[in-house]
Amino acid sequence: MRAKGAVIHEVGGQWKTEDIELDDPQDSEVLIQVMASGLCHSDDHFVTGDIPVTLPMVGGHEGAGIVVKVGKKVTRVKVGDHVSTLFIPACGKCRYCARGQSYICNNGAGMEHGMGMDGTPRFHIADSGQGIGGVVRLGTFSNYLVCHESQAIQIPDDIPFDVACLVSCGVATGWGAAVNGGNIRPGDVVLVMGTGGVGMNAVQGARHAGADHVLVAEPVEWKREEALKFGATESFESVEAAKGRIAELTNGQGVDVAIVTVGRVDGKLLGEALDVTGKGGVTVLTAVGSYERSIEASPQDFTNLAKSLQGVMYGLCNPVSDIPRLLQMWRDGRIKLDELITTRYTVDEVNQGFADMHGGKNIRGVLIHSHE
Ligand SMILES: [Zn+2]
Ligand SMILES: [Zn+2]
Repeated sequence: MRAKGAVIHEVGGQWKTEDIELDDPQDSEVLIQVMASGLCHSDDHFVTGDIPVTLPMVGGHEGAGIVVKVGKKVTRVKVGDHVSTLFIPACGKCRYCARGQSYICNNGAGMEHGMGMDGTPRFHIADSGQGIGGVVRLGTFSNYLVCHESQAIQIPDDIPFDVACLVSCGVATGWGAAVNGGNIRPGDVVLVMGTGGVGMNAVQGARHAGADHVLVAEPVEWKREEALKFGATESFESVEAAKGRIAELTNGQGVDVAIVTVGRVDGKLLGEALDVTGKGGVTVLTAVGSYERSIEASPQDFTNLAKSLQGVMYGLCNPVSDIPRLLQMWRDGRIKLDELITTRYTVDEVNQGFADMHGGKNIRGVLIHSHE
């Protein structure tokens, strides 16, 4: 069938709207009519080359839509189901899924190529016939996509798609970074570094988990103000500017949990987070950045001060249980999701969406698809 999607052709390039030929779903695959997709910073890391992937590629991994066709072995969803996409499969069968860690499901291996599980493409650029992948085997910047059934989860029909798409990546990642990665306890003092589409949810998660003080370090002024609406107790333009207040609140020890959710992390910035984390505290890292071996930290701090550094993928969430839970929390008014959406874009405006993200104008931009 014919689809339309935003494709990145080379590192440093621009997103280009392409007509796409889309294959039929294979036995264990589903065809999804994508209704909405978040413009997540991770997609931009494929453009900058921070995350090496096989290009060209259809962008997007934060999606929600409707199942319109299923392969003959599909059991998880059926035609007509509203679904949220999973950027890591949850196969339910591998060692990691079996022990409750589907955020590192073995079937995530090889997703940088964006092809189907069998290694072959589902998308073909209509003009040239070239077979291409979709980001993490999804490609939600296309108005239709084919993915494995383990990358789709049914959601209730009454949930708006623009809200549902955010939960599939940024919300789960940020909320889980605080609740699961930081193991925040009542009374804790928490610092969130960077309040974009992930960090804002780390703020919400920290409050849910019972933190008394949720400090934010964010260079963009209006995001600092927004953070207060999402539950931050104080906001500062940098970690440096927050240090005095952190010392006051913690008897000079440092925060219980520091959560790094900046747009791009490097070893220096991570070192700053570790420095400001107190004795027995946890630094949570869920940002993308360089692959260099470059963390600026003293090994002795970890031993003497019993600090830990917790890497977080997908909020350490099990999306099959956590996505419906987050959506229920939204229904109950316990988590803000609509408020995360700053601007809505068409597929032809994806470059503008990322320019706005870089300009500090968006918490989250959302692509709303059309289907002729
Ligand atoms: Zn994402
Ligand atoms: Zn698995």
